[in-house]
Formats: sequence, C-alpha cells, structure tokens
Amino acid sequence: MTNIAFIGLGNMGGPMAANLVKAGHSVTGFDLSPASCDQARSDGVSVAGSTADAVREAEVVITMLPAGKHVLSVWSDILSSLKEGTLVIDCSTIDVSSARKAHGMAQERGLMSLDAPVSGGVGGAKGATLTFMAGGAKEAFDRAEPILSKMGKKVVHCGDAGAGQAAKICNNMILGISMIGVAEAFVLGEKLGLSHQALFDVASTSSGQCWSLTTYCPVPGPVPTSPANNDYKPGFAAALMLKDLKLAQEAALASGASTPLGAEAAQLYALFNGAGHEEDDFSGIINFLRGGKE
Ligand code: NAD
Repeated sequence: MTNIAFIGLGNMGGPMAANLVKAGHSVTGFDLSPASCDQARSDGVSVAGSTADAVREAEVVITMLPAGKHVLSVWSDILSSLKEGTLVIDCSTIDVSSARKAHGMAQERGLMSLDAPVSGGVGGAKGATLTFMAGGAKEAFDRAEPILSKMGKKVVHCGDAGAGQAAKICNNMILGISMIGVAEAFVLGEKLGLSHQALFDVASTSSGQCWSLTTYCPVPGPVPTSPANNDYKPGFAAALMLKDLKLAQEAALASGASTPLGAEAAQLYALFNGAGHEEDDFSGIINFLRGGKE
C-alpha cells in the first residue's frame, strides 16, 4: 500500500484515482470542483481541503490537469513541501516544454519525476485499460510502473524527461491525420456509388487498414462500437483532438520538424470545432467534410 495524492479528479483523474483505491492504495485527492470531489469521495478517495493538505503524507503525487499552465502552477505550489523521496508523476497531456520545465523544478528539489500521459479516454480510465507513455529517469519509471499498471494495461518507458508527452502528441497527430484520411475516402466512395460496407471490407484487409478505420470507423455500420453508431457522441471529443494537434504543431515549430499534414489536420479540426462541434466525437469530422451536417 502506498500513500498517493491525486490532484485533478475530473473525467479522467476521478476514475483513475478510484482504480488506485480499488488496488488497495491509500489515496488522498483534491480538485477545485466540488462535484468532482463528491464523486471521488463516493469512490473511496479521501478528499482534502486543499492541494497542500492532499500531498502532506504522500509518497507519490499524481496530477491529472487540463494543460501545462495548471501543472506548472500546482507543481510549483507543492514541490517545496513534499517529503524527501516523493515521486511526482504528471499524467495530463501538456506541451513538451512545460513537461521538461516541471521535471527541472522537481530535480532542483531533489525529487524524482515522470511525465506519463495516457491514451484510452474515459472508458480506459474507468476500465483501468489505459496506455501510459512515460518520460523520465529509469529509476523513476521503475518506481511508478507498479502504480500506473493498476490504472492501465500497458506502461511504456519512452525515454528521458518529456518523452512521454512527445510520444503522446506524435501518436495523436497520426490519429488526427488518419481519421481525416479515412473520412475523405468514405466521402469519395459515396460520390462514386460505393457502399460503406464494401469500402470497409476492402480497406480493412488492404493497405488502407488503420485504427481510425477498423476500430473507430467514422460511418455507422461496419464497426458497431464506433461513435458513428451513437450520433458521434464521444469517445474522444473534437476539442481534445484539436488541443493535441495544436500541441504537436507547437512542438514541430519549436523543434523545426516539417509536419504539413499535421498542420492541415489542426486547421481542419479548428474549423470543425469552430462550427460548434467541440463536444462531438472527433470522427464526426466526416459530416463536416461531406458538408452535410454543420
Ligand atoms: P477535466 O476537465 O474533466 O478534469 C480536469 C480537472 O482538473 C477538473 O476537474 C478541474 O477542476 C481540475 N483542476 C484544474 N485546476 C486545478 C487545480 N489547480 N487544482 C486542483 N484541480 C484542478 O479533464 P480530463 O478529461 O480529466 O482531462 C485531464 C487531462 O487528461 C487533460 O490534460 C487531457 O488532455 C488529458 N486526456 C483526456 C482524455 C479524455 O478522453 N478526456 C484522454 C487522454 C488524455
């Protein structure tokens, strides 16, 4: 049993903290939202009155917050009061440079740290089937792995500080681009008189095969569990896809990488979001491309 402080008990953090409780850890949490705190309490999390109170006895601190500025603010508030030997893990999706800055702050205090963003969405958080992609020292990873594995099915050490965030945005850039590619192919197929099922049967067993097609098919029918069969309710909201594509573009600019399709995908998702689809599943972009349901 480990004393874990969990800061940020929202859609992802709430069920992740609940899974740590189920695994037998002692979890003390805090969130600015009273509703999130109430839910966490009913999941067995001991809710503190402030971040400072939550981390007081912690051996491991986990943050699951909206963006880099929230993570840097919480980490700078707590790091000086943590016990020696405390491991600090950020599971939020944030920009690579903020992640590296957070590691630097922990290092200055002599604390071990890890960036460990996740893939798998709210369903993965609830079912403890997330994939964690971690960046930081091997020693920090080895300590974190048994804890992260109680919230996920796969935990990958991607490299040094920031490598987890780098892997996350690269993966999600592939996802955004591939979803647009699959959606465009279905739109073209429709114009050419091809049935959705025929295109799916061919492409899913041919060189066009990819996750956006076989697991998350953007048209209703071929993959019954995809959000297309549920009026494009998320799933993975278009607003979050846009956030990740913007992070990828920021990183591309900072590192000098050429990512023209990533830039185009970010632009298309900005238009889709701007048309009022922030809360739709990101596969709903097919309707936008078709021009039918704006
Ligand atoms: P959310 O908005 O539901 O939860 C974030 C929580 O942080 C909120 O409850 C908010 O009140 C709390 N918070 C903000 N500032 C705080 C502070 N200073 N102290 C304490 N609590 C604070 O968001 P989410 O969907 O849980 O996502 C969290 C992170 O996970 C984001 O970085 C997101 O990009 C990433 N992520 C989300 C998904 C998803 O499908 N939702 C999937 C993968 C990764």
